[in-house]
Amino acid sequence: IDIPHITIKSICCIGAGYVGGPTCAVIAHKNPHIKVTIVDLNAARIAAWNSDELPIYEPGLDEVVKSTRGRNLFFSTDVDAGILEADLIFVSVNTPTKIKGIGAGFAADLGYVESATRKIAEVAKSDKIVVEKSTVPCRTAQSMRYILEANAKPDIHFDILSNPEFLAEGTAISDLFYPDRVLIGSLDTERGRSAAASLADVYAGWVARDQIITMNLWSSELSKLAANALLAQRISSINALSAICEATGADIDEVSYACGLDTRIGPKFLKASVGFGGSCFQKDILNLVYLSESLHLPEVATYWKQVVEMNEYQKRRFTNRVISCLFNTLTGKKIAVFGFAFKKDTGDTRESPAITLVNYFREEKAYISIFDPKVEESQVWMDLTEPGVVDETEAVKKQVSIAADPYEAAAGADAIVICTEWNDFRETVLDYERIYASMKKPAFIFDGRLILDAKKVSQIGFKVETIGRPRTT
Ligand code: NAD
Repeated sequence: IDIPHITIKSICCIGAGYVGGPTCAVIAHKNPHIKVTIVDLNAARIAAWNSDELPIYEPGLDEVVKSTRGRNLFFSTDVDAGILEADLIFVSVNTPTKIKGIGAGFAADLGYVESATRKIAEVAKSDKIVVEKSTVPCRTAQSMRYILEANAKPDIHFDILSNPEFLAEGTAISDLFYPDRVLIGSLDTERGRSAAASLADVYAGWVARDQIITMNLWSSELSKLAANALLAQRISSINALSAICEATGADIDEVSYACGLDTRIGPKFLKASVGFGGSCFQKDILNLVYLSESLHLPEVATYWKQVVEMNEYQKRRFTNRVISCLFNTLTGKKIAVFGFAFKKDTGDTRESPAITLVNYFREEKAYISIFDPKVEESQVWMDLTEPGVVDETEAVKKQVSIAADPYEAAAGADAIVICTEWNDFRETVLDYERIYASMKKPAFIFDGRLILDAKKVSQIGFKVETIGRPRTT
């Protein structure tokens, strides 16, 4: 960008999570002349980033980290040193939904953003460009500016930018290598534009200039919430249609295909499922709902809230179908749950629909055996218990077990419920004849992700129930 600006030589990223880790590893990989230090308060996480077993699973991440770590990419718990050395600091900390107090269940908890920002103000001894990487409600950059300006040492200047991250878990590395766009929001001042130009140079290490979009701070912040809200809305829309398909004999895959051929609609993100999950969609829509309410726009809030309600309804609806096909009772029955991650190619279970389904099955007194190729066993116990409730895991273990493979999960089961669309569960990969032979009869499969060729699998003898298609039994 054609205005005077500094060249970034050293970057610090606060937060070594699903976003900070991969994003800044790619920045370091593509810009060998920039020193990138990713810092986190979580020592175990940093130790894992420095080991052979990275703390998160993403296709391609290992290669990027291992080829760059120790060259110009570093992971550390020394937050102060990272801040002191950097020209530019990404704030990539978690922004969960608030659990307690006013706005609980809706508003974003910005406590982590606040403490990271306070830390920058307290430690910095030279000018810094501070980049909001976390997803935050519109105008959070203003609050960060107040904190920075009110606490800065004399003669130190902070510039603030918004640079939301659009990567999707499971495809993070390819999303980062080939982004649809990079968004940089800045204040409409000379300093603001100059800071934006410095950050644009970092991305220009591998992203075409015309894909690096600059705009005002508030548009940039809102664009991230809007993009996630629109994506989740598409899923809830197709899921709402899947309910109509099941009741009428229409087939949701055919309906999606027909709609997707309209170039105004497009084919992507039109797959019906048991519901969306992940740490972002629900949180970001609820953020939008809260923002709308606080701006006295109740109709707008109601509109977006419905996207989340439809998602909850889809999980209940699918569970009811399982119960009703299994003769209206799950008591004492064994259900094999295939997949616990919120989507394929990740070990992340945050807001995974599988958690909700397993809890519903537990309420119905079923025995549940879970298999997921990437989710750690300890994570499953954490997800199925309330934090701090002593001995709850032991109670859960009376009803829930973790299987070493899909065959073990399905042995003796009354039904398989596919919760995650892992390729490992396709009939072209798994030996469903072997699975069928080991199950109770009639043996049911509930395909909550539309990954099976229902005809082929039912020829083996299975009763196949697919989301978005009418009942077969
Ligand atoms: P995460 O929980 O995996 O990582 C956040 C990390 O920040 C944690 O390791 C935590 O220990 C650390 N942290 C918190 N406060 C800190 C502090 N004061 N100093 C140092 N470290 C601190 O979260 P994530 O999934 O990486 O998400 C980060 C942000 O990015 C969120 O706002 C999220 O909404 C957004 N986002 C996430 C995704 C995604 O797919 N996960 C995609 C786009 C945007």
